[in-house]
Amino acid sequence: MPSAPMVIKDDPTLMFTNAGMNQWKDIILGTRDPEPRRRADTQKCLRVSGKHNDLEEVGHDTYHHTMFEMLGNWSFGDYFKEGAIDMAWEYLVDVLKLNPDDLYVTVFEGSPEENIPRDDEAAQYWAKHVPADHIINGNKHDNFWEMGDTGPCGPCSEIHVDSRTPEQRAASGKTGRELVNKDDPQVIEIWNLVFMQFNRKADGSLEKLSMNVIDTGMGFERLVRMMQGKHSNYDTDVFQPIIKKEEEITGLKYSTFEDSESSESSEISRNAGSSEQINIAMRVCADHLRAVAFSIADGQLPSNAKAGYVIRRILRRAVRYAYTFLGQKEAFLYKLLPTLVEEMGDAFPELKAQQQLVAKVMKEEEDSFLRTLDKGIALLDKAMVQLRKENKTELNGAEAFRLFDTYGFPLDLTELICRENGFTVNEEQFNADMQKQKDRARNAAAVENSDWVELRQGEQQFVGYDFSEYECNILRYRKVTQKKTVFYELVLDKTPFYGEMGGQVGEQGVLVSESETVEIIDAKRENNQTVHIVKQLPKDPAAPFMACVDVDKRDASAANHTATHLLDYALKQVLGDHVEQKGSFVSPDSLRFDFSHFEKMSDEQLRAVERIVNDMIRQDIPLDEHRDTPFEEAKKMGAIALFGEKYGDKVRVVRFGPSCEFCGGIHAKSTGRIGFFKIISESSVAAGVRRIEAKTGKECEELLYSLEDTMKAVKAFFNNAKDLQGVILKYIEEHDHMKKEIEQFQAQAVERSAQTLLEKGRMVNGVMVVTGVLPMTPAAAKDLAFKVRANAGGSLLCVLGTVYQEKPQLTIMVSDDLVADHKLNAGQMVREASKLIQGGGGGQPHFAQAGGKNADGLSAALDKVIEMAKL
Ligand code: ATP
Ligand code: MG
Repeated sequence: MPSAPMVIKDDPTLMFTNAGMNQWKDIILGTRDPEPRRRADTQKCLRVSGKHNDLEEVGHDTYHHTMFEMLGNWSFGDYFKEGAIDMAWEYLVDVLKLNPDDLYVTVFEGSPEENIPRDDEAAQYWAKHVPADHIINGNKHDNFWEMGDTGPCGPCSEIHVDSRTPEQRAASGKTGRELVNKDDPQVIEIWNLVFMQFNRKADGSLEKLSMNVIDTGMGFERLVRMMQGKHSNYDTDVFQPIIKKEEEITGLKYSTFEDSESSESSEISRNAGSSEQINIAMRVCADHLRAVAFSIADGQLPSNAKAGYVIRRILRRAVRYAYTFLGQKEAFLYKLLPTLVEEMGDAFPELKAQQQLVAKVMKEEEDSFLRTLDKGIALLDKAMVQLRKENKTELNGAEAFRLFDTYGFPLDLTELICRENGFTVNEEQFNADMQKQKDRARNAAAVENSDWVELRQGEQQFVGYDFSEYECNILRYRKVTQKKTVFYELVLDKTPFYGEMGGQVGEQGVLVSESETVEIIDAKRENNQTVHIVKQLPKDPAAPFMACVDVDKRDASAANHTATHLLDYALKQVLGDHVEQKGSFVSPDSLRFDFSHFEKMSDEQLRAVERIVNDMIRQDIPLDEHRDTPFEEAKKMGAIALFGEKYGDKVRVVRFGPSCEFCGGIHAKSTGRIGFFKIISESSVAAGVRRIEAKTGKECEELLYSLEDTMKAVKAFFNNAKDLQGVILKYIEEHDHMKKEIEQFQAQAVERSAQTLLEKGRMVNGVMVVTGVLPMTPAAAKDLAFKVRANAGGSLLCVLGTVYQEKPQLTIMVSDDLVADHKLNAGQMVREASKLIQGGGGGQPHFAQAGGKNADGLSAALDKVIEMAKL
């Protein structure tokens, strides 16, 4: 079977695939057909959040990665412990020729308090292949596997290898057996065989599973290391090409296990610190490159929330190591991408196909984080200057946390920079702040599920492609408490309700029985079935019901969904084949479509797209739907599959003329039902990804009405002129012309007024005092004041009261000698005097203005200024 995408889109409990079994979860839970019952694959996994988080180990050790390939084989009610053990052994020893003397296996020791005995069965099958001293009892932590707090679980059996060199064995004096599960980097687990036979209920008790399941997982990179006789995953040909490229770019040297073993001990001690840091940094970058590139190729762009934030943090961790230890002050990671694509692009074509997008996104993220780093370092420098001033040697933990929280500065980087400058960091306080933040996040997200209450046995059947109403019974229900609000989830035996999936929002409607009607407020998709959300449980849950979808909403959503298919097709026609869907959102009101494209679309291109879509709408192309089509056949039909999407063996193909896609959504019966299509906006969501928002049908009608209303109103302003554009243009020209004329008139008026005012001016103790009240704009008043000063020549106090549009304005001009010798201050005087016109203002000592509300107070204000001047 092919690998499922590493990024999980439709499971609220998991952001990334962290084990091979994730994609078979619904089979294990009994909600999907288990055929074929034997499967095997290699699965892209990412262990950086939640239950499995290896991030902090990565780079520091040589056998944990963020992204790795997990080889697995499954049996759903077919072979069990014996088959799994025999095949695992045959594969490792007979096929791959690993040395059996180096292999150790563990079996579950049992748990008296849970009343589970030791897994003697597994031990007995192992005994067929390995001597007794290679079989080790393991505790619940290592040897009892659980899917989550509840759900399938069972004992497991791990296979460990002792990969120590003869010298290491001799030096340690310990057997491999003694080092199993002791965190020795050379005695590591490579394969875990899980025997699922129980189901854990919410109250913690166990019940037998109806179908025994084998689930195994083996780390490909660790296996390769064993086969190539290496002592570090990074020394294998999975990682070496990337590391070679890092050496080439940085000019630094990576030491393989052999290099460090053989180098002179004196040299090691001299260089230990720095060369070890270079090694770690190179491993971190080689590892994180894979995680980030595969995530982006699977459709998860770095962002500020949820899965996107996890990816952003991984990338930033790599940038930080490259920056600090490899001297890379510019974007670096994206330069390694061509090597990765060369190495893995054949096995994972999604990587090759989207190389350009991945590179662009990575470089942009790196650039932006490097800018942040620079900002953070500047802040830290400032903080250290302050510390020095205050004669302190310890940086506040809250400050360190702020650097972490806003600038992505992890504690160790802050500490490193501080240490280099002779400071320490208050780690305790940092950790306390961190914990506080975590608690806040946890409380906000806390959800509590009760056990499912089973009313009937059976699997759900979805009938929504053909019906919007259907007779049904409730199979099971459970109570969910989220942030103190309570709702119920119902699973029906037959349902027309489409649960939220693939960007289409869940349907709403009602559940009706003889005696009551219950509103279905949402429907979501979980483990291959629709879960209906209701606020209240029906009084008689066992009654027969009619499940009825809100048809208006359904039709509107369907039209929007079909429109996204036509849009996808039209974009490829207009922009080219590089256009890849990168996300979509379809609701009854609108649609949103994200796609890869590297520049802003022009108006012409947007029009061309709209024309193609509307043309297809007018052709009224009927829906051509193919359910349960084998995957390969669908590909042959030319159906477009999305990268990062998980498809079963049988898929549904939705075709409207030339548009042909893999799709499980609810669609219009024919394109004509869309009515009309209009793009509302085109914008950027991330480097290399554009977003189109659009409306269809009735929503377009409303849009048209609002445009029409605006137009009508505008026309009415211009007496419903026929040539509206011509008339508006004429108005604009006239307006510009008049503005110029007014300015000229005003200049003349200022000139004349200055003259008249000066003529009326009087001398008081050698100072020319000019006052006047006249109609004029504040700007003209300013011009006038300056004009008066220029024309007056000597000592001057000029106080003007002007009125413009009924608003009074007070303007004061004082000659420089009065400011210097008499200490007159126009700013102060205007503040005081403007109270009389109910206003306020200010300015400089030689010139100030104030506006007000009461024009009647102007002459009093003028007098007040003269009085204050005390000439
Ligand atoms: P470990 O104790 O070494 O972390 P695990 O108990 O977490 O391993 P499982 O969850 O049983 O491992 O996963 C199955 C196999 O996947 C392991 O035997 C190992 O070969 C591989 N594996 C697990 N985690 C990683 C990782 N972070 N990087 C690479 N391989 C891994
Ligand atoms: Mg682990």
